[in-house]
Amino acid sequence: MIIFDLDDTLYDNERLSRRNTQLTKKWIQQELGLNKAELEELYRNLPKKYPNPLNGVTSLGLSPEGYHENVFGKIEPSKYLSERIELKKELEKLDEEQAIVSFAPETYCRRVLDVLGIEEFFQQVISASQFNSSKKQAYEEIKNPELVIGDNFKADLRPAIEIGIDIIHVSKNCKISQNHTCCEDVIQALQLIKQR
Ligand SMILES: [Mg+2]
Repeated sequence: MIIFDLDDTLYDNERLSRRNTQLTKKWIQQELGLNKAELEELYRNLPKKYPNPLNGVTSLGLSPEGYHENVFGKIEPSKYLSERIELKKELEKLDEEQAIVSFAPETYCRRVLDVLGIEEFFQQVISASQFNSSKKQAYEEIKNPELVIGDNFKADLRPAIEIGIDIIHVSKNCKISQNHTCCEDVIQALQLIKQR
């Protein structure tokens, strides 16, 4: 099974990322009753301190369910994304089965896959929120995990390395390490898999 992260891995869309950040900040501000300066101060270090966003919201005493509802529940993927023909062609060439493990809710993941025109390729779609917010636990639930492809090294890939699953890092300017395989985008990652 090849496991993919969703956001910023299967698509890369700045407007959508910005909308996600905007909704996250608005929700945190309302829930914690912060003024603008307090919010900015709090948010500045949050993603750095908690690469896993579900752990980030929990650290504030908020729930992953609230995060899902107030952020992903308010984003309409079709406003930002469209069919990715080239990605579809590369996925068609794979012999292995494929799964998604995301911090987003399953329903949102499925909506994104549908808009990208690639839903049929994924046998499993899993939200890490079902597994204690842990991608590691989610990976452990998958049969024969061979490889994880993701953009967030700490949150997507380190948990895979810890349990002995091979990884490909999708990153335009990978500055972390020379010791792992890194690709510019998911298309390049899929082409590399075919060459193995
Ligand atoms: Mg991601």
